[in-house]
Amino acid sequence: MSKQFGKLKEDWKNIKEIMLYGLGNVTRQHIDTLAKDFNILAIIDNDPEKENTIFRDIPVLNIYDAEPKCGKCKIILMTVVQSIQKSMKRELEALGLKEYEDFCGIDRFVTEWYWICKKQARIYQVDMAVTTLCSLKCKNCNMFVPYYHNHEKVTEEELKESLDFFFSKFDYVYHFSIVGGEPFLNGNAAAVLRCLSEKYLDKIDHIKITTNGTVMPREELVKLIKKCHVEIKVSDYSKYSSYNHKIKQLCALFEEQNISYRVLQDLEWKDFGFPHSPCCYSEVEKHRKECGVTWRGLNEKRIYYCNVIWSAEKAGLYKAFPQEYLSLEGGDGDHTKQEDMLRFVLGDVDKEINFCRLCGGCGADNQAVVPAGIQM
Ligand code: SF4
Repeated sequence: MSKQFGKLKEDWKNIKEIMLYGLGNVTRQHIDTLAKDFNILAIIDNDPEKENTIFRDIPVLNIYDAEPKCGKCKIILMTVVQSIQKSMKRELEALGLKEYEDFCGIDRFVTEWYWICKKQARIYQVDMAVTTLCSLKCKNCNMFVPYYHNHEKVTEEELKESLDFFFSKFDYVYHFSIVGGEPFLNGNAAAVLRCLSEKYLDKIDHIKITTNGTVMPREELVKLIKKCHVEIKVSDYSKYSSYNHKIKQLCALFEEQNISYRVLQDLEWKDFGFPHSPCCYSEVEKHRKECGVTWRGLNEKRIYYCNVIWSAEKAGLYKAFPQEYLSLEGGDGDHTKQEDMLRFVLGDVDKEINFCRLCGGCGADNQAVVPAGIQM
């Protein structure tokens, strides 16, 4: 591929066949879209319950059974969790395969391949925070919600403008995530879904809303969730704040409405240190890469390198540097600018993302694992 853009080697350009590594949520969510452009020869998964099965007419093989095809067919790692990607890499490298020659992560693949081969600006994931209000006060909230003194109201118009600017620059997003605060608390999640359903559903593969399960969505929102085939992720923190009955009520609603949902219990977070005791990493780039998050933040007509930075700024705890976000206003149709945007989204940045110096992040270099949802 082009020397100026991306990391994939030249011979990725002509591929028609791929293998996917991992039969988890990412594969289930995107396999149909990938199958429109590629012949998927096999899915690699070493889980004894999955190997030697068939998924959507595609054989699921363990790594050793798939080995004869490796090297002849590019492999896409179907996860954006750094620790899982790393263990997949180790396994493939043990077979003599090389990253960017023989395999790469889904986030890089969709951005580089579609830009180089089809001049389409595709990105894997974007998160949009529709409110900073929340019904809980989680001690290690990575959006720093308990530290807000003022919660500025975001208007429907502002949200729509951000979406319009975003889709004027990007052709496709695989994972559009609506987050908060608590997204069910005001009408903004409905406003975003209304706008997406009217204009942009053909540009998104999968929409997800993350809720803490304390608030019942209003009727209009329920209708839009169904219309947009949104998946709901319920993060259950009821161990630390007794609202289990509300989660049951919410799940009953999803069952009744045939809405796809998952309840995640006993979650763990990393303590980011910020703002109570900010970190001070000297090797910022190394630390940022170790963290490796893909949750770029779409807010206020900007894409923040990391949604955490937007929220730290919004809470009045930090002032973002210009290299920490992209402005989406102006410059439509300029390919050089589009390429710069894609580089930024991929994390191929020239300047330091300064906030990473202060933030513990999600990588293996932050050992501070804490139970999710402990209340302040
Ligand atoms: S270390 Fe950087 S990229 Fe990771 S969560 Fe913190 S601010 Fe975001």
